[in-house]
Amino acid sequence: MSQSVAQAGETIVVPPGVRDSEGNPGLVENQAVVELRPALRTRQFHEAVASLAAAGRTTPRGAPRNPLRPGATSWHFRHESRVTSPPIGVQNLMLPPLRVLARAVGLRPYYARWDSRIHQAPRPRLEDTEMNVTDPIRRVSVVSTGQVQIRPDHVASTWRPTAVWLLASRTWTRPRPINAYVIEHRDGLVLFDTGQDRASVTEADYFPGGLTGMLYGRLARFDISTQQTLTAGLDRLGYTAGDVTTAVISHLHQDHIGGLAELSRADIVVSQAEWDTLSSPLPELRGLMRRHIDLPGLRWRRITPEPAEDPGLAPFRSGHDLFGDGSMVVLPTPGHTPGSISLLVRRPALPPLLMVGDVSYDALVLEAGHVPGVGNRRHLREATAMVNQMRQRYPGLAILPAHDPGAADRLAQATGQTPELAAV
Ligand SMILES: [Zn+2]
Repeated sequence: MSQSVAQAGETIVVPPGVRDSEGNPGLVENQAVVELRPALRTRQFHEAVASLAAAGRTTPRGAPRNPLRPGATSWHFRHESRVTSPPIGVQNLMLPPLRVLARAVGLRPYYARWDSRIHQAPRPRLEDTEMNVTDPIRRVSVVSTGQVQIRPDHVASTWRPTAVWLLASRTWTRPRPINAYVIEHRDGLVLFDTGQDRASVTEADYFPGGLTGMLYGRLARFDISTQQTLTAGLDRLGYTAGDVTTAVISHLHQDHIGGLAELSRADIVVSQAEWDTLSSPLPELRGLMRRHIDLPGLRWRRITPEPAEDPGLAPFRSGHDLFGDGSMVVLPTPGHTPGSISLLVRRPALPPLLMVGDVSYDALVLEAGHVPGVGNRRHLREATAMVNQMRQRYPGLAILPAHDPGAADRLAQATGQTPELAAV
């Protein structure tokens, strides 16, 4: 990262190829502070440009795809920012007629739905916390059972079909967590997902062989240290695996069921719809390894979300209330797999949390309305839209995907904990 400070009237040139805040093709959030006096509508200008990039309406180099877009947006914000080529005189001749055309076809200068401001979760006031004796949830934490790298097309879908990028991609994302969330409720210790089994990196026959194994190897690569087992993570939080009374499994892919063997005393909650997919043809090709899932001695509870009247769940109209007190409700979010579920955690004095499994790999990508590259796209879009509708109802809602590098900090902020206490 580099820093440049410009004085009034000075120009800063960002060389070609340098990633900037408006067309950031990477997976890391860009942060820029630009102070302008007078500010005019500079914030709206940057949000407009960012919204175009986020909506996939720009070329890889950041130029708008719609030829009328410069007329709509560049001319609208001509007092805030100008591009350096073509020369200003040429722009002054070209842009006004383009703007007339853009208006004629209803192209607006920017999308109001994008807002680049960071929504800070309200911090709980101390007296709220102390007076709040009815909160059944005592603590929410996250354990990462190692790191996973996936393909960029996997994080946010592109024009390339899954089969194409799976076989052709030559790049990996930076390491991402494999999160299991730990919720201490007064009636039991609950996990949402159980992470990846360390045996997957130490035992040669953990994954299938042949063509299926090759595809697994192209889909993801894992790094799991001895200290990154589920049991070790729970231990750092002050729990044992035997304390876990319920493990809710978002879906049955291997990076969510890896800790099952350590949970002999827990009820394992999975959706009936997800369980049924184990019996469909070619389970291993769909990421389901029954020999690591259907382990002897596990107590499975296969649930089907029931119709729910609770207006606090809108736009969801069905759910499964884990403890009957509304504090933890399983919601159906199919798409990544047919039976994928999410978990809504609600507390009286704190922002609600929504653990979404693999509905998205990055809450910012989800908020921009983009879906990942694996799963049924139509169902993923529906689930994403519903989560975003819920987010509008609860402005502080913390979205916690399983593999989002920002999830641990987001959880810490939403619970008012320091990141070290929220995540281990
Ligand atoms: Zn996953």
